[in-house]
Amino acid sequence: MKLSKYLLPVLKETPSEAEIISHTLMLRSGMISQSSSGIYSWLPIGLRVLKKIENIVRDEQNNAGVNEILMPTIQPADIWNESGRYEDYGKEMLRINDRHDRQMLYGPTNEEQVTDIFRRSIKSYKELPQLLYHIQWKFRDELRPRFGVMRGREFLMKDAYSFDIDEMKSEDSYNRFFICYLKTFARMGLKAIPMAADTGPIGGDLSHEFVILSKTGESDIYFDQRILQEDESINEIDYEGDLKKPVEKFKSYYSVSDDKYNESEFNKNVDKQNQMQSRGIEVGHIFSFGTKYSTSMKANVLDFDGKEKSVYMGSYGIGISRLVGAIIETSHDEKGIIWPDVVAPFLFGIINLSPKDEIVSSNAEKIYNYISDKYETIYDDKKDNAGVKFSRMDLIGIPHQIIIGNKSKSDNEIEYKNRRTGNSEFINIDKIDEFIKRFPSYSAI
Ligand code: ATP
Ligand code: MG
Repeated sequence: MKLSKYLLPVLKETPSEAEIISHTLMLRSGMISQSSSGIYSWLPIGLRVLKKIENIVRDEQNNAGVNEILMPTIQPADIWNESGRYEDYGKEMLRINDRHDRQMLYGPTNEEQVTDIFRRSIKSYKELPQLLYHIQWKFRDELRPRFGVMRGREFLMKDAYSFDIDEMKSEDSYNRFFICYLKTFARMGLKAIPMAADTGPIGGDLSHEFVILSKTGESDIYFDQRILQEDESINEIDYEGDLKKPVEKFKSYYSVSDDKYNESEFNKNVDKQNQMQSRGIEVGHIFSFGTKYSTSMKANVLDFDGKEKSVYMGSYGIGISRLVGAIIETSHDEKGIIWPDVVAPFLFGIINLSPKDEIVSSNAEKIYNYISDKYETIYDDKKDNAGVKFSRMDLIGIPHQIIIGNKSKSDNEIEYKNRRTGNSEFINIDKIDEFIKRFPSYSAI
């Protein structure tokens, strides 16, 4: 992609409405443009990151054996009346009347819709479990939309739902998603801590929030820091094998949020040297709620004894658009964003320092063609001065940068700079084949 043909409205100044660094950097680097409070348009470079995250989430859901569907954004009020939530949901729900004056709503979540699909399609215990997910925009009229995409009104969520014949099987599904979430966040370079959460009237211990550590999180968490060393073991967990054991292991590390924190409990459960406190951002939530919706909505199946039974359900959410902000919160410096390779909008950025110089430009063009053949690449061919170019490439967080046209070097040498380490080295153009082999390939969007 040539920058001269790309929409990248970067800002020099810090926008006054931004309270946290990720919001500032997303606006400054031209990723999003506010439409109204808590509602954003995604500009080209922001959309690329959103899609990268979406695809990692999708891939990990598929690996866990969950089937993708796509439910509508607009739902009929009828099914919400059946579950009893139409009244209960309150002002967060955006309610709409169609031309025939039928009550509709913009979905804040999809339990009712997916239960309706289930009861129309599945009749027997033999067809269980059913694990379904979709990735769709949600609308919640949040009281205080803030922090940009972190707490928006319109936001992209992956929500999944499980249907099982009994409580025990439902726990198996829960464990599957628990592991899937650990794998998903680890793949994005995030350390996500599973934290026991409220289950409401149903009780049990099958509700966890996945929280990543960040100074700007909305809640404080207290936890056993040894969980941070468990990364390695996550990749080795196989869905074919026993999932209960690894889940129990992760559950055994103590963690609570500030609303449930109690000093003596914390001291009792975690040795002083392992105690850690941090603010955290909730990026996912998994929840088993038994037969709550299946009973009210009559989602029954025939069990092996021929009797009708309400199915056991769970729901599993990941805030995809929130993750864009969350990753920036954990990965930036004073110059701007530092994208982890796997979610970077472009893996490579090429800076041409002398676009008016024919030799330099023809070299740059060749290198651009060569690298962009293998990796997603943005080529700064604009006529701005060097300072502007360097700071723009750093601001938008491109992890691997190639600088061409350094006057003090021969025409055969290019500079490679690593955004994260800041280290740079000179590479001979004839050795570019060798150089490029250092970088693993990531699938394109
Ligand atoms: P929160 O406590 O942050 O309001 P929630 O409990 O309402 O979250 P869920 O209904 O479990 O969230 O939704 C699943 C995921 O969707 C959350 O873990 C979060 O990552 C994301 N999410 C929820 N609300 C928003 C929002 N307003 N903007 C962006 N992402 C959101
Ligand atoms: Mg909420």
